Amino acid sequence: METKALDLLKKYYGYSSFRPGQKEIVENVVAGRDTLVLMPTGGGKSICYQIPALLLPGCAIVVSPLIALMNDQVQALRANGIAAAAIHSNQDESINQSNLSLAREGKMKLLYISPERLMIEISKIAEMVKVSLIAIDEAHCISQWGHDFRPVYTSLRTVKNMFPGAPVMALTATADRLTRNDISNALGLHDPFRWTGSFDRPNISLKVVNDPGKRQRLRIIADLITKYHLDSGIVYCLSRKKTEDMHEALSDMGFKSVCYHAGLSPEQREQAQKAFVNGEAQVVCATIAFGMGIDKSNIRWVVHNNIPGNIESYYQEIGRAGRDGLPAEAIMFYNFGDIITRRSFVEDSGQKEINGEKLDFMQRYAEASICRRRILLSYFSEEIKHDCGNCDNCRSPRQVFDGTIIAQKALSAVIRIQSREGMNNVIDILRASTRAEIIQKGYHHIKTYGAGRDLTPMQWRSYILQMIQLGLLEVAYEDNFHLRPTPYGIKVVKGLERIQLNTHQEFNYGAPHKKELEKVVDLPPEQRLLEQLKNMRKEISQKEHIPAYMIFSDATLKEMAERRPVEIEQISEVSGVGEVKLAKYGRQFLGVIRKFQGMKRTMPAGTSQKESLLLLNSGMEPEKIAEIKGVAISTVYSHFAQLAEDGNFNDFRKLLTHSQYKTVIDVFDKDPDNAYQILKEKHGIDSYIARIAIAERNYHLSQ
Ligand code: ADP
Ligand code: ZN
Repeated sequence: METKALDLLKKYYGYSSFRPGQKEIVENVVAGRDTLVLMPTGGGKSICYQIPALLLPGCAIVVSPLIALMNDQVQALRANGIAAAAIHSNQDESINQSNLSLAREGKMKLLYISPERLMIEISKIAEMVKVSLIAIDEAHCISQWGHDFRPVYTSLRTVKNMFPGAPVMALTATADRLTRNDISNALGLHDPFRWTGSFDRPNISLKVVNDPGKRQRLRIIADLITKYHLDSGIVYCLSRKKTEDMHEALSDMGFKSVCYHAGLSPEQREQAQKAFVNGEAQVVCATIAFGMGIDKSNIRWVVHNNIPGNIESYYQEIGRAGRDGLPAEAIMFYNFGDIITRRSFVEDSGQKEINGEKLDFMQRYAEASICRRRILLSYFSEEIKHDCGNCDNCRSPRQVFDGTIIAQKALSAVIRIQSREGMNNVIDILRASTRAEIIQKGYHHIKTYGAGRDLTPMQWRSYILQMIQLGLLEVAYEDNFHLRPTPYGIKVVKGLERIQLNTHQEFNYGAPHKKELEKVVDLPPEQRLLEQLKNMRKEISQKEHIPAYMIFSDATLKEMAERRPVEIEQISEVSGVGEVKLAKYGRQFLGVIRKFQGMKRTMPAGTSQKESLLLLNSGMEPEKIAEIKGVAISTVYSHFAQLAEDGNFNDFRKLLTHSQYKTVIDVFDKDPDNAYQILKEKHGIDSYIARIAIAERNYHLSQ
């Protein structure tokens, strides 16, 4: 089984080994066992049900909640030469029906369907289609504890009874412990095999920027766009309005930006998504509605303009970057005001307690001064024994100093105004602001007025935030977010305890940012070749109207740039070059590399023949080879005839039957002059087949 699975992996996807868990999952599913797969976004869940679907007789049913996601997957599967289709309400009903028929006739390996639609068609499918397995994607949607509960998912429980012979797989990327335990029960899985992959995504660097101003935010985003100008990124914002503001600001700076939120019409949304997927837009400014089902592997960065409401969402959103395993960046802008906004969302949500806890955890992440990856992974009940080295806290550990006096000043200001103000007013008092409100309330008479004039407002914000984290001050959420001293804070004021604070680093704005995109620096050769390969990919993508990442992923292009294959056999060894893509695109990319290496761009004679041979050897039918190479079937046969004549091919039974061979030889022996005509008219044998038969005889004679 294992070799067979590996063969399929190489043939269709061009990968030569399984990722952790994939092999075990495939084995269990093929053996008929229900399976629960918990893997982070980008972990490789699709392969877990696609390979069993290819191994098992019949058609796999894949339940997926989003049409965009389904179409994407189907397109990617077809690009790899796998028979797949989708059934949903967003396409013509006749297409749905014909897809169902194909599944019934055994001509389909994977059928994607929305849960609503499955519930309608379920008895029909159970009756007529030989179902190999049922995969339920985004399975966390079934749990009320999850952050993305969808009532229709609860009816999926019937699946287990309707298809008693087929293993059911539940797959998800977002699961805290509560949700995990819920999924298996809610679906009624029988003694499922469970795989919990590591949720670590070490290639994504993590960073939180504390309390940035508007200019600083823009500058950071602009730097990311410039740094990854051939790739793209996402800026997540809290509201539609903020999304639009951000989009405008970035467009004004000359960047190619699009906007995406629930307030747009379906057409506008589709357009935005397309521009992003095709690489026309470098950045999408989006609310959380964006991104589910985008398997764009060259998203290099994600910025959160506002803090998300929980770690699951956050992790899923940053997980959209770097799905190819190459370095990617996640930056979050943290502002205390956002916590206040989020708190009010929590108050209004149905599940106040649980959502409150989730937000607390998120806040702890944002405010942490220890390794951030440790905090994230601990949320998913995963332990790492060492710091990650790839987060801001690991890379530049904070410098600490004795902050007792600073803390005493802030605390005593808070105490003297009887905890009647929030952070901003407290800072104004410390800095001796003459703002009307401060004076009217008589705060200029208190003893600590102006006691903190030596520090900037930004410094004060940073230190007061730290005091909250350290538990010296607390925020009265129920009382207009006023600051209150804690018993620990009182001890510090009295001089009974000393405390340490992290130094605050002011942000350096640098020169105004514009048009830096055109500034092409001296890139190392690998990088230059990579850019050329990306440009070729873009060209093909635009010509054929398919998303760039479906041609080859960034990881594949990067490997090409490193290994620099110049022959067809060499490029077939690059990870991600499956047989269909080899035949379709191999030569174009080889051309780029050859030119880069100072060779002739055109391939040496015989390349097309070698290509056909590689495909035939990997099990592809000659008709299929002709189809994907876009040449006539006779051309493909002539390749093999030529190869045979040169002594490089003798696998004739793949091209013609023994009886065809005998017929051809008989006719040629009897009437060589009219042989081709007789064969065609009397025996229905085309001349290109006859040519192979002749080649076969010559081969036997030479032996
Ligand atoms: P998920 O559904 O878990 O988010 P995907 O199934 O989309 O992840 O896989 C993420 C990326 O990893 C895809 O580009 C996929 O082709 C690639 N991938 C999956 N399995 C392997 C493997 N065994 N070897 C190399 N790449 C893989
Ligand atoms: Zn770290």
